[in-house]
Amino acid sequence: MNIQDYKALKNLLEIPKKIVVVPHRNPDGDAIGACLAIQHYLKKQHHDVIVVSPNELPEFLMWMPSAKEILKFDKQNRQSKKAIQEAEFIFLLDFNALNRVGDDMQNTLNDFKGIYLMIDHHLQPEAIAKFTFSDVNYSATCEMVYDFIDQLGDKNLIDQTIATCIYTGIMTDTGNFRFPATKPRTHKIVANLMELGVDNAYIYSKVFDANTYQNLQLLGHALSKLQVIPKSNTAYFMLSKNDLKEFDYQKGDTEGIVNYGLSIKGIALAAIFIEDEDQGIIKISFRSKGKFSVNDFARNYFNGGGHQNAAGARSTDSLNETVEKFIKLVHKYKKEISRSYEN
Ligand code: 5GP
Ligand code: MN
Repeated sequence: MNIQDYKALKNLLEIPKKIVVVPHRNPDGDAIGACLAIQHYLKKQHHDVIVVSPNELPEFLMWMPSAKEILKFDKQNRQSKKAIQEAEFIFLLDFNALNRVGDDMQNTLNDFKGIYLMIDHHLQPEAIAKFTFSDVNYSATCEMVYDFIDQLGDKNLIDQTIATCIYTGIMTDTGNFRFPATKPRTHKIVANLMELGVDNAYIYSKVFDANTYQNLQLLGHALSKLQVIPKSNTAYFMLSKNDLKEFDYQKGDTEGIVNYGLSIKGIALAAIFIEDEDQGIIKISFRSKGKFSVNDFARNYFNGGGHQNAAGARSTDSLNETVEKFIKLVHKYKKEISRSYEN
């Protein structure tokens, strides 16, 4: 977005509007943080703002300001459709392709005739929105939301509530400020947020000290089944529907498990394959270190995408077939993966 866009947007937002704010399906801390930050910001300017998530958010985000008021498109279908049909503006946050909301919600969005605005930091954005703020150099969509509000000349409207939402997104998407996308700018923004009263220790604890006994048992089980392919510098996990049932799986419980694969010395590619019985798919997460692009890998072979070092995908093959395909591919790409670290 350039200066003209911000001016045009500011003019459009001068009069209170009906606005819907949408995160991607299976929203994470960054998606929810961005949606709630935007909601609180726009509400301060007397807009009517409803957040509609494609599906349920993880339990560890339910403490966030107004998280409980978020509509779930799959469960609160009538209300969600009505909100979208009545909206004049729709904000798409933390995703850049409409299929990331799932078929049902995408069908409803396809009929939307108003103005779309997208804020996102993933690669290869679709040209859907009248206003697109897309930049892969940002660590988190929440970091972009901070700059977006600043660009609209409203930094003074960022209060402790908005700051808390933005902080949560930056903290989660940077892996607690350790991923390469964490820049001096990120820390400067975070410093400003802390000056607004953000309680960093409280937020960390709410998000990361939210395990149940069963969660840790599931993690232990996954770790005990971890597979390593040393020649391809690759590690992967497989969780079948029976594994998930045994440990009373709830949405969000497998978050972060894939990173344990990358924590092994010498591993440059990690993956987790999760059998999602409800959706009838295998949900895949890929993580890499260095040059090997899991965005390309996920896009080219598994109908997914994301970032260079973190991407997601789905497969409609069986769990075993999906993993077999993966093993063949990592064998094919073993040179690229093992050289991923080299400069
Ligand atoms: P995760 O593995 O945690 O689900 O996702 C990793 C990253 O890839 C996140 O930034 C997420 O938004 C993105 N991502 C996950 N699934 C997909 C997908 O199917 N398509 C695209 N384009 N991006 C995805
Ligand atoms: Mn994000």
